[in-house]
Amino acid sequence: MKLHTRILIGLVAGATAGVATNLLIGTGPMTHKVVSFVTEPIGKLWLAALIMVVIPLILSTLSVGVASLGDLKRLGRIGLVTAGCFLGLTALSTSLGLTVMNTIAPGRSLPEEVKTELMATYKGQADEAMGLGSRAFNIDLLYSVIPRNPVQAAASGNMLGVIFFAVMLGAAMALLPAEKAAPLQRVLASLGHVTVAIIELVMRVAPVGVFCLIFSVTARFGLHLLVSLSAFVVTVVGSLAFFQFVGYTLVLWLVARHPPLDFFRKARLVMITAFTTSSSNATLPTTMRVAEQKVGIPREISAFVLPLGATMNMNGTALFEGATVLFLAQVFGVNLGLGQQAVVVLMSVVTAIGVAGIPGGSIPLLMMVLAMVGVPAEGIAIVLGVDRLLDMCRTVLNVTGDLVTATIVTRAERMTLQPDPLAQE
Ligand code: ASP
Repeated sequence: MKLHTRILIGLVAGATAGVATNLLIGTGPMTHKVVSFVTEPIGKLWLAALIMVVIPLILSTLSVGVASLGDLKRLGRIGLVTAGCFLGLTALSTSLGLTVMNTIAPGRSLPEEVKTELMATYKGQADEAMGLGSRAFNIDLLYSVIPRNPVQAAASGNMLGVIFFAVMLGAAMALLPAEKAAPLQRVLASLGHVTVAIIELVMRVAPVGVFCLIFSVTARFGLHLLVSLSAFVVTVVGSLAFFQFVGYTLVLWLVARHPPLDFFRKARLVMITAFTTSSSNATLPTTMRVAEQKVGIPREISAFVLPLGATMNMNGTALFEGATVLFLAQVFGVNLGLGQQAVVVLMSVVTAIGVAGIPGGSIPLLMMVLAMVGVPAEGIAIVLGVDRLLDMCRTVLNVTGDLVTATIVTRAERMTLQPDPLAQE
């Protein structure tokens, strides 16, 4: 049975068992125990095993990828096209989120008692995120791009710093004469192969990991929240789905000149992994494998675009950020004019670059955007209860956007897609 089918079975079984537990047994101590001591630890360990290989994967593939581009002019050209795609797609998705939220305006009709109850229930979590946010978004974010100590950057999960170091390593290997650079390049290439082998092992138990993650989310989910916040959830998920299936289809057709149906069929394992893990970083190993073997993106392009994308390109997150700022502005009766909405688009695009590709990574930065445009940041508490569901959906766009960009860059470089017909999932 194909891997994506097995993962899908894990997903459906986990969701069914979780919802059944939620409805039949409730979210009381019994469910709490099963989730806290059985399913959540298994799910978290599986996720950790995937994230474990991200730093060696980024270091090896990005440096070897940059080195194999050959000359720095080509690196500059590919870098420009990649950055243009990242910014263009993110600005487009955010504008869509704001437009739809302006039109439907679900925040205006949220009952006062629901607002008060949600604020009280999730206040603690909101305060915690606020603390993280003030540390995450300041001038240190800029300093983190060029790390004084690359080992420390890797140890503290500073992806932007690791990326910068890997690009410099690759550029230097490209500049040196072959006999000097080749030994290190071979070691790094080998490290890349070994990491992929680890990923394949970890993905073998993906159905179990996915079952446990989804069970934990659904068994403990405040299902009644979905009803009170249904207008908000439907608006955000609807906008995300529209961008995923209509937006990317148009971009693939018009810009990448690639048949969209074929793309989505090949990318389904990536989409399912993103949906179930809620983490661009945890999905990166799968994205790279599918990009090269199934979609046929040349290695030097996937090795450059995808690690950057998993860290910096978050189309779904930016859409969610923009839409949520507007929703909360509606709830609190703050009138955001066109100028302020333009600031929201800009800040959502900028902060999405700094968002960590992990579950809930965007919440601290979203709170900063709220504060910046005068919407009470603690209001985030209102949407925290449904955030995991939205996170699963927006992460799908975050990784699909990376694959779409890699397809566009391949075309811009006048290279052809060469999928491996023998590739196994
Ligand atoms: N979970 C998202 C990701 O990993 C980030 C976020 O929006 O919270 O891409």
